[in-house]
Amino acid sequence: MGAYNVLHTKVTCPNCTSGYTGRIQFKVGEVWQYDYQIGDVLKVTPGDTALLGVDVMVYGISENPVCPACDFSNGEEYDILIKDLTIVECKLMVDPSLYLSVNQGCYYFLPVGPKTQPGQLNEAPGSKF
Ligand SMILES: [Zn+2]
Repeated sequence: MGAYNVLHTKVTCPNCTSGYTGRIQFKVGEVWQYDYQIGDVLKVTPGDTALLGVDVMVYGISENPVCPACDFSNGEEYDILIKDLTIVECKLMVDPSLYLSVNQGCYYFLPVGPKTQPGQLNEAPGSKF
């Protein structure tokens, strides 16, 4: 049982198209059961600048993937896009393998400027200034 934050976001059931509020757990920034919605600014530990000014994709896992209207089981894994600490969007995960072996599988940095090869995403971003 680790701590995690929760993103409350609207999920549209692909089976019956009804919407409901999904609870998506994720671990990035300061992790302490904080509740977030799309558009919120992520809390980070004071002095932690790793996520400032960069885009990260965060691994999210749904607490309630089953549609309350039709019992259809939606996807459990989500990509949560965070740009410069602002939670921008949350979509069904495209490629879980992108999370392997980086940052405990919790998130990965998106390439900025020249393309960065997967697996070499640990160079310090934000070195623009
Ligand atoms: Zn449904």
